[in-house]
Amino acid sequence: MDKLYGKTLSELKEIVADGGEKPFKAQQLAQWLYEKNVSSLEEMTNLSKGFREKLAVSHEIGRVPPIRESVSQDETRKYLFQTERKNYIESAWIPDRERSTLCLSTQGGCKWGCKFCMTGTMGFKEQLSAGEILNQYGSLPFRERVTNFVFMGMGEPLDNMDSLMKTLEIMTSDWGYALSPRRITVSTVGILPGLERFLAESECHLAYSLHNPFSGERAALMPVEKTYPLHDVIALFKKNRDLFKGQRRLTFEYTLIEGENDSRRHAEELVRLLNGLRTRVNLISYNSGTDLPWHGVSRKAAEDFRDFLNSKGLTATIRNSRGGDIEAACGLLSARTASEDQ
Ligand code: SF4
Repeated sequence: MDKLYGKTLSELKEIVADGGEKPFKAQQLAQWLYEKNVSSLEEMTNLSKGFREKLAVSHEIGRVPPIRESVSQDETRKYLFQTERKNYIESAWIPDRERSTLCLSTQGGCKWGCKFCMTGTMGFKEQLSAGEILNQYGSLPFRERVTNFVFMGMGEPLDNMDSLMKTLEIMTSDWGYALSPRRITVSTVGILPGLERFLAESECHLAYSLHNPFSGERAALMPVEKTYPLHDVIALFKKNRDLFKGQRRLTFEYTLIEGENDSRRHAEELVRLLNGLRTRVNLISYNSGTDLPWHGVSRKAAEDFRDFLNSKGLTATIRNSRGGDIEAACGLLSARTASEDQ
């Protein structure tokens, strides 16, 4: 059975044409799938019964609910989904006063093996389809409460470009969920071919996971540095600096790890490296609650690091880690619990 959920308008047009229906029916189909988020073909009452019956032979809606929900003491929720190929993926919902952020996964596992990341320890399992990425949003009962989206869950979004771009198209198009691209941030470790396409074709915000401004040291933590060096990525940002002059945001993610990247030397190099870019550095202390050997820094150390950057004219903020007790915090999504249950 082919799934309708996750199809773009042009893909729906093909399905409608195959069914002998007029092209405008594709728009109606999209409205039922996304704006109205219906769960059955029968609910699509402005499509003829004959067409719905024909559709039902080969298609299903294809939205599936999470198989588990974990709730943190701080109200962060983690959702576990099983994919069609029987892998597990997770997403996290982080409510915070009037803002509530959904963190989405784009791959089952990840091939880049960043040393501090639990997903990286799983290895790569599969690419998620646009429907599977979007399902982490569309299947949530309280999805109307989500105000912001970050692609910072399992996987490297720019390594799954076709699914990512389709997902963003459905999220931001009038015929889809009609969300503003300013509510969506895509995070990357700097996959250059994907970055070039993303910068050209999307208006969503971008977050670059830097974590160390020295190439050699970054490579020891993040093997991706050997393929896509940070200096090439930053040169690309500087070449495209005009894209970030308006409301579109470029941020640098920097996880502070004790003794690894938290010294004055690192802060000074960050200032030098990002000079000339309109950007912001998001600091977060490493989550120590894993089997991995690193530790986060104290609040005071994070504040000192932030204050130094700010004093040099580089905007920096500290992001609080959330959902640590349910392994929903940054770098902790790994679907480990589900695999252990098998
Ligand atoms: S940090 Fe991102 S790119 Fe690195 S291993 Fe984890 S999911 Fe993959």
